[in-house]
Formats: sequence, structure tokens, C-alpha cells
Amino acid sequence: MALIVHKYGGTSMGSTERIRNVAKRVAKWARAGHRMVVVPSAMSGETNRLLGLAKELLPDAHDPAAQRELDMIASTGEQVSVGLLALALQAEGQPAVSYAGWQVPVKTNSAYTKARIESIDDARINADLDAGRVVIITGFQGIDSLGHITTLGRGGSDTSAVAVAAAIKADECLIYTDVDGVYTTDPRVVPEARRLQTISFEEMLEMASLGSKVLQIRSVEFAGKYRVPLRVLSSFTPWDIDLAEEAKSGTLITFEEDEKMEKAVVSGIAFNRDEAKVTILGVPDKPGIAYQILGAVAEANIDVDVIIQNVSHDGRTDFSFTVPRADYKRVMELLETKVQPELGASKVMGDAKICKVSIVGIGMKSHVGVAAKMFRALSEDGINIQMISTSEIKTSVVIDEKYMELAVRALHRAFDLDAPSA
Ligand code: ADP
Ligand code: ASP
Ligand code: MG
Repeated sequence: MALIVHKYGGTSMGSTERIRNVAKRVAKWARAGHRMVVVPSAMSGETNRLLGLAKELLPDAHDPAAQRELDMIASTGEQVSVGLLALALQAEGQPAVSYAGWQVPVKTNSAYTKARIESIDDARINADLDAGRVVIITGFQGIDSLGHITTLGRGGSDTSAVAVAAAIKADECLIYTDVDGVYTTDPRVVPEARRLQTISFEEMLEMASLGSKVLQIRSVEFAGKYRVPLRVLSSFTPWDIDLAEEAKSGTLITFEEDEKMEKAVVSGIAFNRDEAKVTILGVPDKPGIAYQILGAVAEANIDVDVIIQNVSHDGRTDFSFTVPRADYKRVMELLETKVQPELGASKVMGDAKICKVSIVGIGMKSHVGVAAKMFRALSEDGINIQMISTSEIKTSVVIDEKYMELAVRALHRAFDLDAPSA
């Protein structure tokens, strides 16, 4: 008997029929003697629909008062899901009870729309488990110290599930989704992508932070911090497949580097089109300039990713960086109305049609020439690189968005990641 957390994504919860299937699967695990906690997302499309309604009434909901309301609205999708799943389990004859984040409670900070979990009380969960009930907890939401409902950022149910698993010291957290594991790249973009049996925690962290939305980055951080055994697997296998087989399927996130992993220099390709590039031209090249530009951006609570400062000419230089695409308009406004006049810069330019493509692999630590191979593969397809950033186990390039799929496929091939053709 083990203590297990299952997480089901939006597609897996997409209709009452699918919810019934989830219930049958969970009931199978409970019947096998496991103590079960389930964290579902909203039904597919629901969070977008809710946020779309909000946008009709207030297109730019940036201040905290408006963002509080966004969370009030978006969190309801998950509340519907948990109730439906509890009913479906009861219909299977399996006692089950659902809780919203505030009822557990799942305590977060007050950063509405991107709150961080601070603590989860396990008392209520344990009491229900002891009473033989499956406990179903909303993904994506929590409550702050003032009693306001918060949400954890898009894809946040993954984080809810892993955080619950850490809080109750679960034996394993299983992330059920619409693909059967973590692939070398998004299989919807590269059909030749291969499923990985295991991926190291470090690599998964990079893949998630570089745009592979199969797991939200914070869920991987939690798994690392609390050593939660984590597996990504399909919710579309027949619910009645052998439990032992199901428990071994998908991709396991591992904390040790095994020999096999060391052989692959590059394990995966990640990409992200949710960024935009801005450039501020002709700023004086003197100490404190980067701080003056980026300090103002940070004050507006906008994250900065890749940064480039050019060599200077006649005491002036150009400075470029990328920001989340959702913040593009705000950052342009800030640069044009505040930073440009303050610094006497000559011009502000922006491009929202860029993307970032990254290669990730632990093997990069011990191999040279990996970045060069990446740049060659891109040049052979005539793809111009606008920005580059590297760390120990990844190299990222910023390129024109229209070449994204071409670049991902070219790199997948260049690093021998394509599945052998049948
Ligand atoms: P859920 O609703 O279950 O949380 P998501 O849509 O958030 O599902 O995440 C699953 C999706 O992640 C897949 O359908 C796939 O298109 C995408 N994805 C991106 N990169 C990868 C990858 N490397 N491996 C597997 N899936 C990936
Ligand atoms: N429903 C939320 C979203 O669509 C959370 C999640 O699916 O993980 O982002
Ligand atoms: Mg998701």
C-alpha cells in the first residue's frame, strides 16, 4: 500500500465521459489498497474561456486589484472539476470528497495570477484518507494570508499536485496528461520525437523553464526541493490496464545521472514563442546603464530573460533584451516614456514575433563544440540568430518566430534525436 498523488490535466478532464474514465482509473488504484489524492485541472478550454470573459470587460488587468479578480474568476474552473470527479467516484462506489484550495488550505503569497505556494496543511487530507476516502483537491489555486483566492500561473495544477505530494510525503506523484511521457521535443511539432524513459531532474528543470509546457517549471522545482518521485504518463490508456504496468509507464524524472544519460550530449529541444524582444538604441556607454534600464523594468514587475549589450561606438551602445510577450506593450511604453528620455537614448525598437529555441543536455557539461554544431545546423537552413544565451547544460538562440518549427526539426535531426524510421 502506498500514498499516491494523481494529477489529471485539462484534456484528461475534458468531458463527463473522460471524467468518468479518470474516476474508474483512480478507483482501480484505491481498490488495490493505495491511499489516493487526486489533483485535477479545469476541463480543457475552461480557463481560457473564463479569462476571455474577463478580458472582454477589462483588457489590461495589470494592477493588483484587477488581478485579484482574475484569480477569483479563473479559479472556478478547477472547483467544477473537483466536484464532478468526486461525484464520478461516488458513482463508482468509491467514497470521495473534494476540496477547494482555501479549504485545505493551500496557502500562497499574494502575487495574484502567479502566486507561490508557501504551505499546505495535511491534517484534513490525512483524516479523509484515514476514513477511506479519495481526496480530490483543486489544482492551480490557493489562498493568501488575507483570505483572497490566488492562482499559480498557467499550467499551475502540476505545481499543486507536486506540492501536495511533498506536503503529505507521498510515495509518488503521477502526472497524467495527453501524451505518454516526456519526449525529446514536443511531439506535436516533431512527429519523430522520441519518448524518454527517464530524464534527469536537472534536464527537466531546463526543459520546463525553456518552454516545454508538459510540466510547469515550479512543479519541477518542488519535486527537486522535496525529492518527490515524479512520473509523466498518459491518461488515454484504457483505465483497466494492469496497474503494475501502468505504474511503470511514461517518463520518470530521476535524481541520479545514469550512464545512459551521460551518452546523450543533447537530450531534448525546447522552444518558446511567448517572448518578445526590445532594443534601446544609442544609450550612453557608462557604468550604471544596464541597471537604469533593467531596474525600471524590474520595478514594473516584468521578467527579463536574454540580454545583449553591443560594443560601443562613439561612447554609445545598443541594449536588447527579451520579456514575456504578454508584457511587450507595457515594456515598450515604459522604455519610450521613461527610460528613453531619462537616458537620452536615440530610439526604442521592438519585435514581438521572435521565439527562443534551446538545446538541453547534461552531456553538454563534458563536451565541447555543441553550441557550434547547433549554429551550423541553423545556418544550413538559412536561419539567422539574433541572440544567444548559454548555461552549463543548455544553449538558447532567439530567432524569427516564422522559423521556429524548421529550427526545432533541424536541431532534432542534427543531434540524432529523431526516432529511427520504421
Ligand atoms: P495538461 O493539460 O495535461 O497539463 P499540457 O497541455 O499542459 O497538458 O501539457 C502537455 C503537452 O505538452 C503535450 O500535449 C505536448 O504538446 C506538450 N509538450 C511540449 N514539450 C513536450 C515534451 N518535450 N514532451 C512531451 N510533451 C511536450
Ligand atoms: N487550468 C489551469 C490552466 O489552464 C491550470 C492547469 O491546467 O494546470 O492553466
Ligand atoms: Mg499542463
